[in-house]
Amino acid sequence: MGKRTKTQKIQKQKLAQLKRLIKPRDHRLKEKDKAPPKKKKPDPYTIKIHDAPQMSSALFFQYNTQLGPPYHILVDTNFINFSIKNKLDIIKSMMDCLMAKCIPYVTDCVMGELEKMGHKHKVALQIVRDSRFERLTCLHKGTYADDCLVNRVTQHKCYIVGTNDKDLRNRIRKIPGVPVMYVAQHKYAIERMPDAYGVPM
Ligand SMILES: [Zn+2]
Repeated sequence: MGKRTKTQKIQKQKLAQLKRLIKPRDHRLKEKDKAPPKKKKPDPYTIKIHDAPQMSSALFFQYNTQLGPPYHILVDTNFINFSIKNKLDIIKSMMDCLMAKCIPYVTDCVMGELEKMGHKHKVALQIVRDSRFERLTCLHKGTYADDCLVNRVTQHKCYIVGTNDKDLRNRIRKIPGVPVMYVAQHKYAIERMPDAYGVPM
């Protein structure tokens, strides 16, 4: 055995020894000799916090692809009341505004708000009990509708919100991809409707 091969053999043995002694992820080892990094086990005692608001994949495109038509319009209490005051037929006026089929949605809490208002709003109740109005079940307590509507449109980008409430409108404006319908000059108007839909503003 030549001197050179002997040295190589010893080197190899030493390396093998070293490998046995040091940890598999030791910094002295070359990356190819290192063991693959261990996956950290999640600590079962920590509470997982998802700070980032979930963005809808529908917004990946330039305009919201889930909007419609047919358009799904979440209406709140004052939108219904304003419509009655302005003698607007809700479904017909929606279609006049968007020039496409529209389906109004009433949540349990909006229904609750209308019921609380007493017989003065009998007309409103009659209108929303029409079979063309879709009902949405609420799981939250109470009949405060604003938070409920904001939550729904944050999670599902398929809705337009119908409201004449200034505060609610301001809150909706902060949520990307959600148009707002409101009563103005005895008809419905829409804001933040993507251009791609070709809806006259
Ligand atoms: Zn609700």
